[in-house]
Amino acid sequence: MTQHMSYSLDDTIAAIATPVGSGGIGIVRLSGPEARSILDQVFRSSRPLLPLQLTYGHVVDPQGTQVVDEVLAAYMPAPRTYTRQDVVEIDCHGGPVPLRRVLDLCLAHGARPAGPGEFTLRAFLNGRIDLAQAEAVADVVAAKTEAGLRMAVAQLDGQLSGRLQAIRARLLDALAWIEASIDFEQDEVPAYEIDADLEAAQEALVELLCGAERGVVYREGIRTAIVGQPNVGKSSLLNALLRADRAIVTPLPGTTRDTLEETLNLHGVPLVLVDTAGIRADTRDMAEDMGVARSRTALGQADLALFVVDANRPVDEGDREIATTIADKPAIVVLNKTDLPVCADVDGLLPGAPTVDVSALTGVGMADLEGAIEELVFGGRVVAAEVALVGSSRHRDLLRRAQAGVEAAIEARTKGLPLDLSSIGLREAVQALGEITGESVSETLLETIFSRFCIGK
Ligand code: GDP
Repeated sequence: MTQHMSYSLDDTIAAIATPVGSGGIGIVRLSGPEARSILDQVFRSSRPLLPLQLTYGHVVDPQGTQVVDEVLAAYMPAPRTYTRQDVVEIDCHGGPVPLRRVLDLCLAHGARPAGPGEFTLRAFLNGRIDLAQAEAVADVVAAKTEAGLRMAVAQLDGQLSGRLQAIRARLLDALAWIEASIDFEQDEVPAYEIDADLEAAQEALVELLCGAERGVVYREGIRTAIVGQPNVGKSSLLNALLRADRAIVTPLPGTTRDTLEETLNLHGVPLVLVDTAGIRADTRDMAEDMGVARSRTALGQADLALFVVDANRPVDEGDREIATTIADKPAIVVLNKTDLPVCADVDGLLPGAPTVDVSALTGVGMADLEGAIEELVFGGRVVAAEVALVGSSRHRDLLRRAQAGVEAAIEARTKGLPLDLSSIGLREAVQALGEITGESVSETLLETIFSRFCIGK
């Protein structure tokens, strides 16, 4: 872990650890060697400050004349803390102004503002948790459903890390043996059942990967694009699915500015609905304006398309054009406005896709639509909120790489190829597993991972 030299651990970081805005309480958190002495300078109490106890008192300005806030302070001495450093928490009144002033006072006394996830980064760099556990912290915070939360908590608990460490240890044993066998005479190297170990590692990886597909769905959700011509009822369908007439939808940060997203909890699976109404079409091109450009944009990263067609008028060229943009995506034809006389014939419009009759206006057929979505996503299996150990697509891809590496090593052994050929695949596998648990991880990757965190976590 010592390779991350650019991350300083010697200074003391501080941040407001609670959300912006007003609340019952707000917490300023400090971590580092100076945490306790900074607290001593800004905090006044008639009682002694005992470790791991809340102490009542006041934060005062440097002259000691003006009370900034009435607070409870806690001092947690290293090493049994979140970061394994001295940690201080100051519970203030939950308003932006007192919190800001208390934080500023801490900064004025020698703390440095913490970056996103820097407390958790310190926990990782100090070896209290591994990278998979550190990532799980952000997943717990971001969990969209209870199933997602259960998975994140299991990962935080080290369940994934434990399995991966066991596999990695086997692979390292195998590598060490191969190296010894290359460097020394046969009778100098202790006997070792390398093939049995490789097979066991392979089986363990396959088992983890089996649950991963489902796990990724639970953690990351299914991106669902609602496409169709103007006025067929896309926004109405979105609202009906959300079962609330919410005209205001929350844009997620990091998404296209004009795309609106809302997450629906479909029996534990987060369904991330993308509303194309927010996507502006190029009005100079009339044909494109029919919704083709919009559906192309929305479909870009979608896992699933809900193709809305107006039941109350015949299928036309515009519908057929949109059908071509959907191409091979898993899709459902949603025949909307079936409360009105039905004159649309959707047969053959999107070959292979199921059709569901609904009325976004009355809500009829919405349960059928949800059933059809589950059928498509889970192939008709009952959606049990079982816990998969792997839920991130990054982890899944690394596990695939590890598995391919082990497979190559096994193949080289089976074909009786020179030993060093087996070691190439094994090295690749060890590297891939290390990118999950954090033994082999670049600074850039760490930055990417921790930039997902909030400040103060
Ligand atoms: P979008 O342009 O595809 O997003 O369509 P909207 O959701 O804005 O709906 C267009 C019009 O169709 C509105 O006047 C809706 O009230 C109406 N509408 C939507 N769904 C239904 C439905 O199921 N039945 C009926 N009768 N009208 C609907």
